[in-house]
Amino acid sequence: MKSYDCKMAWRLPGWVAWGVLCLGWAGLLRAEPVAVTPAPAPEAAQQAEFSQCVAQLQQRALAEAIDPRVVETQLGAVSYVARVIELDRRQPEFTETFHNYLGQRVNEQRIETGRRLLKQHYDLLLPLTRQYGIPPQYLVAFWGLETNFGSYLGKMNVLDSLTTLACDPRRSEFFTQELMEALRLVEAGVADHGTMLGSWAGAMGNMQFMPSAYRRFALDADGDNKADLWNSLPDAFTSAAHFLNQLGWERNLRWGREVRLPPGFDYALAGRDVHKPLSEWRRLGITDVAGNRLPDLPLTASVIVPSGHRGPAFVVYRNFDVIMGWNRSEYYALAVGHLADRINGGGELSVTPPNDERLTLATVQWVQGALTQAGYDVGPVDGIFGTRTKRALRDLQKSRGWVADGYLSDETLEQLRAVLPAEPTPTRSGEQP
Ligand code: CA
Repeated sequence: MKSYDCKMAWRLPGWVAWGVLCLGWAGLLRAEPVAVTPAPAPEAAQQAEFSQCVAQLQQRALAEAIDPRVVETQLGAVSYVARVIELDRRQPEFTETFHNYLGQRVNEQRIETGRRLLKQHYDLLLPLTRQYGIPPQYLVAFWGLETNFGSYLGKMNVLDSLTTLACDPRRSEFFTQELMEALRLVEAGVADHGTMLGSWAGAMGNMQFMPSAYRRFALDADGDNKADLWNSLPDAFTSAAHFLNQLGWERNLRWGREVRLPPGFDYALAGRDVHKPLSEWRRLGITDVAGNRLPDLPLTASVIVPSGHRGPAFVVYRNFDVIMGWNRSEYYALAVGHLADRINGGGELSVTPPNDERLTLATVQWVQGALTQAGYDVGPVDGIFGTRTKRALRDLQKSRGWVADGYLSDETLEQLRAVLPAEPTPTRSGEQP
């Protein structure tokens, strides 16, 4: 599991601004290379710096009115964990394809396990649908994607991890706030330095809640007066349902669905920044995968095409945005929606995402550089395949009479190689320039 940073971190007031900020770097972290950050300082200096930082964090915790005994015992016990910084600095070598992402997360074994566990826990899950509006298969899907149904909750010491990250300049304030929330969880008797375990970035329990989400949304459902997201499934499911409900989940609605786009579809209309009433998409000729008209519901929807015109297309509704409020990644949200459908008895996607080669930073930079030379505006040549690069590619595709989907498939790369200045060699998968 990677990039927990944004997931379920939640603070009010000001969460909207935070969310926008979060969106910014989640966009960078997820499936796209991030800018290189300076390596940490040598060990001794680092240790002194860390101790000084912990002292400052203690002052901050006291200023935030956290119990002095908690501050002393918990922050008195923390250690610097170099591995956490290593994981934080990890540079993705490739841009993950939707084919690989989905294949790794929604496979037959996970679907089968999900179906079995849905039955097993149905009595626990059904009342949550009544109360919070979230259908059982979604809760099981989140559970499956977050921790493989509770089989891997993470074994890192959360207070150590959060302190290490709070003392690192890259995202200090975010993790400082999460650390304060973690201390408040200790105050509340949820866990302590020895028992608060999770991911390297501080996500905890069956549903991988960050401390801020734990504090705000975790509920006790089994009546022991303690919200225990590690050991109590009633608590974990209820807390997840509560969180999704608070994110704005719309009862009785789907996340979206796979659709079929009409020939000649204008891919400039694809993307979550384009919202249209479902009736408008119907009018444009989009059907369900069997060719039937889309349901006549008063919904606003976006079309997304995560792997270009040869891959599956989807319309997504408001609940898709809710899933992205949990984890700001389109791939993740599609995986949750599709896994939920499969667990609920649904079939495979009608179009298998094409197994294109993963893009390297260098390939994207080459495309960006070449597009810039050809007079297109891609913004900075940063190796990140963002909105402007996509638009520029679409414009070039259109000018050449190719399908203008703005997607760098193997086929598109081949077409580009034929018309753009040569790519520095070698840049394809498995090779470093
Ligand atoms: Ca409980």
